[in-house]
Amino acid sequence: MNPFTFEQAADASAAIRLANGAAAAKYLGGGTNLVDLMRETVEQPDMLIDVTHLPGDIERRDDGSLLVGAAVKNTALAAHPDVRSTFPLLTRAILAGASAQIRNMATIGGNILQRTRCRYFYDNAAHCNKRQQGAGCDAKEGFNRYHAILGASPACIATHPSDMCVALAALDAKVHLEGAADGPANQRILRLLDLHRLPGDRPDIETELQPNELITAIEIPPLAFARRSTYRKVRDRASYAFALVSVAAALDIDENGLVRDARLALGGVAHKPWRALKAEEALRGQLAGPESFRAAAEAELASAVGLRDNKFKIELAKRTIVAVLNELKGEGE
Ligand SMILES: Cc1cc2nc3c(=O)[nH]c(=O)nc-3n(C[C@H](O)[C@H](O)[C@H](O)COP(=O)(O)OP(=O)(O)OC[C@H]3O[C@@H](n4cnc5c(N)ncnc54)[C@H](O)[C@@H]3O)c2cc1C
Repeated sequence: MNPFTFEQAADASAAIRLANGAAAAKYLGGGTNLVDLMRETVEQPDMLIDVTHLPGDIERRDDGSLLVGAAVKNTALAAHPDVRSTFPLLTRAILAGASAQIRNMATIGGNILQRTRCRYFYDNAAHCNKRQQGAGCDAKEGFNRYHAILGASPACIATHPSDMCVALAALDAKVHLEGAADGPANQRILRLLDLHRLPGDRPDIETELQPNELITAIEIPPLAFARRSTYRKVRDRASYAFALVSVAAALDIDENGLVRDARLALGGVAHKPWRALKAEEALRGQLAGPESFRAAAEAELASAVGLRDNKFKIELAKRTIVAVLNELKGEGE
């Protein structure tokens, strides 16, 4: 690990001021990802700025939305009564991730910006375009069971590892940011779907964040039919494993059994949390049932590309979508 200085920030402007005064600062949440990467020298900040004491809570607003401070712990968000009752997919997604100890440490901001678990990214002896621009990608010919089947590029096939972000993608959450060079009072709001990037030819640029921009909160808009929602994660072990494929879904079925609306997002399949807009579109107006669910899954996965070790994930993703929608349909009957 390289030497670094450590600072604590009492508020967002102090954190940003400190970061702008350093050569290569990183904000520190629970440290459950960043510190591992520093030990491997993949990350080499010269300053860590602890942002876990920034003001922030979970606030229910009059319109039914939730505003969640970036420093809120994963455990606290999953356990919050409003989240459990109105956004059960979010509680389930968070609880499907990591371990209780890690969720007690991990913050919302850190979870969103955690980095891929591609083993070639962590291995300094491997070629990785994400770690070093233009270095090549050993994962393409290597062990790529956990890698992307959607939206990948010749430069990178890594996946985004967060479970929580898959639920947030389905809920169309917004990310509140501070510290951008433009924007009124240096603040702006991005949809979570627009925060993470697909790899293209610059997989080292993972988000649309500007240098030292700080996540201050996330906003979860109201979605009445999210009461009928869930998250399913398919993985190699029953706990403490990242997703091969995961599905976050909410389903709204009318009195005639037709799909009024649906939200679907996939994890473990792409460089970013993958909102399944084609599947959602295919579902609307259809009779809810295995045929329409399968057709929606086919529509979403039509552009999927598998590699030697991960091509099974294409069918797995389709079946998981169908299983989750069947489960949600059953809940309403
Ligand atoms: C053994 C193990 C198993 C795991 N399994 C899973 C799993 O199954 N599913 C899953 O989803 N996750 C899993 N995780 C990952 C875990 O969820 C993340 O490590 C955690 O969410 C990161 O949160 P943190 O607060 O510790 O972030 P940190 O490690 O502190 O930071 C992560 C990144 O976010 C940046 N950052 C932090 N806060 C802010 C902010 N407010 N604004 C801007 N940037 C910020 C940091 O600079 C850093 O780049 C696992 C981790 C481990 C170690």
